[in-house]
Amino acid sequence: MRFRAIILGLASLFSASMTFAAAPVPESAKGVAIPQDKSYVVEEVKDGLYWVTEGAYTAMFLTTGKGVIVVDAPPSFGDKMLKAIGDVTKEPITHVVYSHSHADHIGGASMYPKTAKYIAHVETKKRLQRMKDANRPFPYGMFVGGKPVPMPTITFEDNYTLKVGNQVLRLEYKGNDHEPGNIYVYAPKQKVLMKIDIVFPGWTPFKGLAIAEDTVGYLKAHDVILSYDFEKLISGHWGRLATRNDVEVQKQYMQDIQANAGKALQTVDFYAIAGKVGYANTALLFETYLDAVSQECANLTEPKWIDKLGGIDVWTKDHCYKIVMAIRVD
Ligand SMILES: [Zn+2]
Repeated sequence: MRFRAIILGLASLFSASMTFAAAPVPESAKGVAIPQDKSYVVEEVKDGLYWVTEGAYTAMFLTTGKGVIVVDAPPSFGDKMLKAIGDVTKEPITHVVYSHSHADHIGGASMYPKTAKYIAHVETKKRLQRMKDANRPFPYGMFVGGKPVPMPTITFEDNYTLKVGNQVLRLEYKGNDHEPGNIYVYAPKQKVLMKIDIVFPGWTPFKGLAIAEDTVGYLKAHDVILSYDFEKLISGHWGRLATRNDVEVQKQYMQDIQANAGKALQTVDFYAIAGKVGYANTALLFETYLDAVSQECANLTEPKWIDKLGGIDVWTKDHCYKIVMAIRVD
């Protein structure tokens, strides 16, 4: 609701005064239609596993015969997750899984029952413990409408098998990528994988490789996702499920950016730029150089991808910058 209000607010603010130039968004980028009366969609993927979206975020829950397992609580949903669960079952919520610590995906979890079991990776718990720090620089998740969330009551290091009633979820950790503690949630019976903030089906990832904390881990995560036997991927954004093909396509796009970042680092001439900018202002010199490298990488990448994914002309240069920096230091 809040997210949508911000978007609509920005749209009306800007549409009066200016127009933005960007390539058309391809059909494959579009999410499911959201009915205006409910403003969310809940759909059974298979065998009691449901996905939910309000158009910007995706999350899931499972009915088990012995209580509901819910994974994540995007605050942008408001109480839509509770409504969506109520649409399909009378079972109470007994288990809550956090995919990772980010407030825009779990910051609404205080609406779930206090008596439920809360399950997360040990690194997620560590990050959430910072919520309680009175000296932290800003409150947890405030801008995205998040509130303090229940602390995980069950944590794990490598993997945890959650069996409730007739359902099984395999929770697995394969190392840092988007952030430490970002887990794979796999439903073997349904062949559904949930892995958040890596793949953006139909789109270029969110700015800065979706604010990945570990670029190498982020790039590797594409292969880890593909190593699972899944038919549908719940990826967190924007308003549809992802397929294996979506993951393959994004992997290819990332491989092109890596190759073109490498080429740009070899061809853009630092000393020629220094000759023009001078050495007196180091910040200006490096900014001019890195901007030129990122722009060259984007110029090499965009023509092939512009009509295949949404937002290519908006965020490719930023992904290039992030990968250029990783090539330099990782
Ligand atoms: Zn995140």
